[in-house]
Amino acid sequence: MIALTAGRLYTPLERIEQPLLLIDGRHVAEVGSQAALSVPHGAQLIDFGDAVLAPGFVDIHIHGGAGHDVMEADAAGLPALEQLLAKHGVTSYLPTTVTAPLDQTLAALQRLANAIEEAEHEGASRGARAEPLGIHLEGPFISHARRGVHPAENLLPPTLSTFERFWQASRGHIRVMTIAPELEGAREVIAEAARRGVCVSLGHSDADLGATRAGVEAGARHATHAFNAMRPLDHRDPGIVGEMLTDSRLSADIIADGIHVDPAVVDLFLKAKGPDAAVLITDATAATGMPDGRYRLGLFEVEVKDGRCTAGGKLAGSVLTMDRAVRNVMRFSGWDLQQALRLASLNPAKVAGHPQRGKLESGCAADIVVLSPGGDVRATIAGGEVPDAAGGR
Ligand SMILES: [Zn+2]
Repeated sequence: MIALTAGRLYTPLERIEQPLLLIDGRHVAEVGSQAALSVPHGAQLIDFGDAVLAPGFVDIHIHGGAGHDVMEADAAGLPALEQLLAKHGVTSYLPTTVTAPLDQTLAALQRLANAIEEAEHEGASRGARAEPLGIHLEGPFISHARRGVHPAENLLPPTLSTFERFWQASRGHIRVMTIAPELEGAREVIAEAARRGVCVSLGHSDADLGATRAGVEAGARHATHAFNAMRPLDHRDPGIVGEMLTDSRLSADIIADGIHVDPAVVDLFLKAKGPDAAVLITDATAATGMPDGRYRLGLFEVEVKDGRCTAGGKLAGSVLTMDRAVRNVMRFSGWDLQQALRLASLNPAKVAGHPQRGKLESGCAADIVVLSPGGDVRATIAGGEVPDAAGGR
């Protein structure tokens, strides 16, 4: 048993001053105030001083980091990415594909399914690494008009038979699928994916209001990187953005790096979706945590210079980290740390279909980020493993 004390804890819906959190193996045993709980005999006590304890962050849209892309054939890259994620407070994630030739996407889905199942079985021997919880399939069921840097020649019309091939290759580990609802065949695929428990996310889309609403009626529940790769809002043609901002059945995520979306529009988005339905993602590429240069994104190359990640002059993912996204929300909108944290923990865990993640309650995964009161990461505990530097094993 490990006992953690700190200045404050966010569950994140509740705030506990002078908290005590007990970890038993990979799970949280109890959470409460030091006044209400006592440290069990023989427990290892670690005091984090004035720090804030919060649920480890969950990134549902990430392509790579530390020089590695999640689609690359060499699976050795994932541990390096997962260590980088943990350094930035992320304890679980959905490796995200980009559009590629069908056979290469199928091969990537199989490799990622292997990694997810291995992580499930490795248990407490993973060290300070984020855990893959499932896969985000971004493309190929997206709009030619709003494909961004996804290769045009590899886009496919949505069909049940192609979806079935992805599903089989991933062995049912697809948790989020981005799709353009206006494509012919999209509604059937949305309905079938939703029936299998996938969170269907509308994005890379040129849909008007009617086509977007039809996608929601078919079962879509989320929207991918708000404003980016979407038909822009027009006051007489509100389109996908109008529906995303106003439909309370939809949660939505945003890249809050200040580059993909202007800080004023991030603020507008947060006001519209509120603390229940807004989600932060990084859309990070292999270049994250690396110097300027050329890196892979799926099967193509991106160039990074001064924090901008581009391919052929178009924005191509980011070098954003989740801890910075949380601090940016506080800066752009004036939200406090407790509100901002929720967008990186509880809300994305719900989208990913993992209700035992993203919160600190008894029985939940012992995934914890230790933050300064200003939101800087001091330590990350993934699956109950306390890193040495934090006074752990
Ligand atoms: Zn995208």
